[in-house]
Amino acid sequence: RIPERTPRGNRSKLLVLAGPTAVGKGTVAAHIKAHHPEILLSISATTRPPRPAEVDGEHYFFVDDAEFDRMIAAGELLEHATVHNRFRYGTPRRPIDAALAEGRTVLLEIDLQGARQVRAAEPSATLVFLLPPSWDELVERLVGRGTEGDEERARRLRTAKVELASQNEFDYRVVNDDVARAAAEVAALAR
Ligand code: 5GP
Repeated sequence: RIPERTPRGNRSKLLVLAGPTAVGKGTVAAHIKAHHPEILLSISATTRPPRPAEVDGEHYFFVDDAEFDRMIAAGELLEHATVHNRFRYGTPRRPIDAALAEGRTVLLEIDLQGARQVRAAEPSATLVFLLPPSWDELVERLVGRGTEGDEERARRLRTAKVELASQNEFDYRVVNDDVARAAAEVAALAR
């Protein structure tokens, strides 16, 4: 299946994968990393503490607020945002520039605020919006993973509603009803 092209429909070597909470962006990105070693999956910096299985420099660069501020001031981040009103996340610019200079495809898995900043900084970037099969499915996934309390879940769902309304800003829409297929669709957009 070919991803649904929106009127923008731009293609480049800089791919940005965004979408609402619990849609499975991380799972799709991990699948692409495992099956397409030629694509560089950008490693973000974050002020969030590592989860038990996470490795510094592999899943994220775990930094404190002072270091994050320094990275911003030094112009080291292509984009940065506070996600879910909590921790800060940002995309280091240098590894991306180096990979693009070598002709490699680069994938960013970031939130919508970040995707908009990348669009502003690199207008030719290809923005992909990952969609849940349905609204009910998104609610089920968020409830099912059980990582948020009631209040936080309600807040994320309100944000998700607003974010889903922005999907036309993106170049392509991909439905995540099957991780392997969605990942193949995203990877095929590289050029
Ligand atoms: P988590 O803390 O669950 O790993 O990620 C939380 C959210 O932060 C996800 O929506 C993810 O896409 C987003 N995120 C991860 N890295 C970045 C980044 O570098 N920039 C932005 N803007 N968002 C990011």
